This record gives sequence, C-alpha cells and structure tokens, in this order.
Amino acid sequence: ATPTALMVGSGIGAEKGVLIRRGEAIQTMKDVKVIAFDKTGTLTKGKPAVTDVGVTGDLTEEQLLSYAASVESASEHPLAHAVVEAIKEKGVEVREEVQDFTSHTGKGVSGTVEGHRVLVGSRRLMEDHQINAGELAARMEELEEQGKTVVIVAVGDKPAGIIAIADTIKDEAHAAVAELKTLGLEVAMITGDNKRTATAIGKQLGIDHVIAEVLPDGKVAEVKRLQEQHGTVAMVGDGINDAPALKQANVGIAIGTGTDIAIEAADLTLIRGDLAGLITAIKLSRGTFRKIK
Ligand code: ADP
Ligand code: MG
Repeated sequence: ATPTALMVGSGIGAEKGVLIRRGEAIQTMKDVKVIAFDKTGTLTKGKPAVTDVGVTGDLTEEQLLSYAASVESASEHPLAHAVVEAIKEKGVEVREEVQDFTSHTGKGVSGTVEGHRVLVGSRRLMEDHQINAGELAARMEELEEQGKTVVIVAVGDKPAGIIAIADTIKDEAHAAVAELKTLGLEVAMITGDNKRTATAIGKQLGIDHVIAEVLPDGKVAEVKRLQEQHGTVAMVGDGINDAPALKQANVGIAIGTGTDIAIEAADLTLIRGDLAGLITAIKLSRGTFRKIK
C-alpha cells in the first residue's frame, strides 16, 4: 500500500471511532476470516451486578454476602466489585478483614475470615478444593442458562451458597455481530466464564463459535487454533489477560475504555469501546486496498 492511502485511511478511521496504531493492520483487516471477542468488558459493558443469592440454610443471604465481600474487597476483578457493591447497597456490615488473601487467576479468590476459610469462585476453584455446589447445583445451572455468571461461596470448606452476577450486553453488540456476519466473517467469543453462561450470551448475540472456560493464559492457544482452522484472525479485547492474544492475532483490537496494557498490545483501538468501529475498519480496509490494486 502507498503511505498516502494509509494516511487517508487513518484519518477516516479516527473520525469514525477507530484509532490506527499500526498501519499494516488496516491492510490485513480485509483478509480477516474470523473475529474473536473477549466477553466481559468487550461484548458486555463490564459493569456486572449481583442479581440473585442462594443459600444452603447454614447462613442467611446477608451473612453469605458478608463473608464473600470480605474476601472480594481485596480483589480487583469486576465480579468482586459487584459483590462488594451489593453488600453496600443492602447496608450490611462487612465482616472483619480477610487474612491470607489469595487470588486464583481465572478461578476466583480465597482467604480466612473470622477463622473460617472462605472460597469464592468457579466450579473449577471448588474442584481444586474437593468442594461441589451440592444442593445448589440445579439452581446454579438455571441461573447460568439465563446468561448469568454464578460463583460458589464455600465457608469452612463446605458449600454455603451461590451468588449470580449479570453484566449487560453493549447496546451496539447485536448489530455489530450481525453486520460482521453479513460481511462474510465468522464470529467467535473466548471467555474464562463457564460454558453454560457463555453459550447463553453467545446465543443472544448470534455468535458462531463459543469458546468457554479458558484460563487467562489459554487465550493465545485458542487464537492459534482459530488461525490454523480458518486463516486470518482478528481478536478484540480489553483486559490485561487479553494482551498476549491480541499480539497473537493477525489484527489485535483493543477497547479504548479498557486497560492500557491491552491498548499497547493492539494494532487498532476502538475509541469509547464502540463495537461499530469494527465495521468501519473492515469497510475502510476493503475500500482502501481495493482502490489501490
Ligand atoms: P473473563 O474471561 O470473563 O474475564 P476470568 O478469566 O477473569 O473471566 O474469570 C473466569 C471465572 O473465574 C469467572 O467467571 C469466575 O467464575 C471466576 N472468578 C475469577 N475471579 C473471581 C473473583 N474475584 N471472584 C469470584 N470469582 C472469580
Ligand atoms: Mg474482558
């Protein structure tokens, strides 16, 4: 491509909500076969809130939230913020500060609260400690089928309850996915969330490939797999843990409202996180490089 064409392209892109950090990316964009999205903060707004609480009967809902919030107050995860926010809203007192706080990346958190070991996280985290959802398993599945993320809370190594947390899908996400498919691309979602929740959200958006329960360092391998199966891949993400996958993709696209680490790893940035910018980028690429040929 001529430098002039790239410059023209860049100018139009910025106007329409796409910031081009690496010029070649806009050229590669026309060859993209699959566009893979991170879920939280990329397809969804990234501001999850607690919607449901279930208890086994040993604790009240408020006691359960209080134990969970003690541990989550030491975590930076969006799910943790949702739990802490829920307890503030209820005006419930958070228990004493957590001791021995541990973050189990992509699985959850643990710590000691008032002498009890408290675990908050996915089934996988519980399995690591030989705990299961017990009598709450059916309710948990039901909530996941609604697209909610459900975390299990174990107190003293026994399941004590579940907390369902829901995030809102971005307003423009449905239209963006539909238009990408009209443009002939396949759409994938790569998430650490569980399969049932991810499938429910994928169905709502019409996503072709739902890849769930991926540990943070597994996203690169999933992008590689898509490249082997389909060819040129673009990846869209916002998180620190998305950065290596953005680099692995043929085109890495960051959410402008996301982390600096993701933005630095990416070739393109969607200003304000607006997914409509993806359509602009593809049309720009196809238009610009068709003209040059
Ligand atoms: P995502 O890809 O949606 O950003 P993560 O990889 O960060 O997801 O987390 C995967 C799963 O691990 C979550 O769906 C949740 O079940 C669990 N998890 C991670 N961090 C926490 C936390 N702070 N509290 C509770 N659960 C957590
Ligand atoms: Mg994310």
